[in-house]
Amino acid sequence: MEEKKLYLGCHLSTSAGFEAMGRDALSIGANTFAFFTRNPRGGSAKAIDPADAEALKKILEEGNFGKLVAHAPYTLNPCSATQKTREFALMAMADDLERMEYLQGNYYNFHPGSHVGQGVEKGIELIADLLNQVISPNQTTTVLLETMAGKGSEIGSRFEELAEIISKVNHDEKMGVCLDTCHINDGGYDVVENLDGILEEFDRIIGLDRLKALHINDSKNPLGAHKDRHACIGDGYIGLDGILAVINHPKLAGLPCILETPQPDLMGYAKEISILREKSKGL
Ligand code: FE
Ligand code: FE
Ligand code: ZN
Repeated sequence: MEEKKLYLGCHLSTSAGFEAMGRDALSIGANTFAFFTRNPRGGSAKAIDPADAEALKKILEEGNFGKLVAHAPYTLNPCSATQKTREFALMAMADDLERMEYLQGNYYNFHPGSHVGQGVEKGIELIADLLNQVISPNQTTTVLLETMAGKGSEIGSRFEELAEIISKVNHDEKMGVCLDTCHINDGGYDVVENLDGILEEFDRIIGLDRLKALHINDSKNPLGAHKDRHACIGDGYIGLDGILAVINHPKLAGLPCILETPQPDLMGYAKEISILREKSKGL
């Protein structure tokens, strides 16, 4: 029987460059990782050194890494009611996608945004509009919509909303979804009791071939809380067994699994990764 590869990692700091991220990943037993394309609160991005990008690519190849999952700043709001805010999101995402081409063929994940009272339909229109301006047919990056907890006026806590956004994107072959376990728990999808049912629903509404990455977080809040507070694996309402069922589900095999748990440091993530690998053996 062919062994199914488990790709596990966490968010790494870009401050020392790309190659340093590769080394950090190796040092904690990760074989995928996430990084913010610029300061997570927005702001400007550092220029990319092509030699540094090549050095990282070498590490990724030699270490048989899975796809990387870059993350747009979480303050971007592509469906803000303010034109200036939408323009900033457009500028940042266009620039990020250009920079992602240095690493070829990875993922760029973003939060669809909050409609701030304009209504879900208007929000979805604005998000698709922006995507149609930044996605080019030649890019090698797949853009991922993250499933959200449904806090405030967040769009993307229902699979239907993500499907509708994708259906409005001209180059929808460049689109996928990143499923965050804390967010869907808080959004009302019962990961513990109904994982198979959730995946069936995802397949029916979005299509499982769109599911490209997982954010694996426990949740500090119960099912349907619409809160979005991540817990370390085993410290929340999903629990270690719930998370193990997700990362070892046959339909999810091979997807990059990114921890976004409140660990104090890299050693915390190293420990979490090693526990998940150990407990996945034989599952
Ligand atoms: Fe996120
Ligand atoms: Fe997430
Ligand atoms: Zn979150």
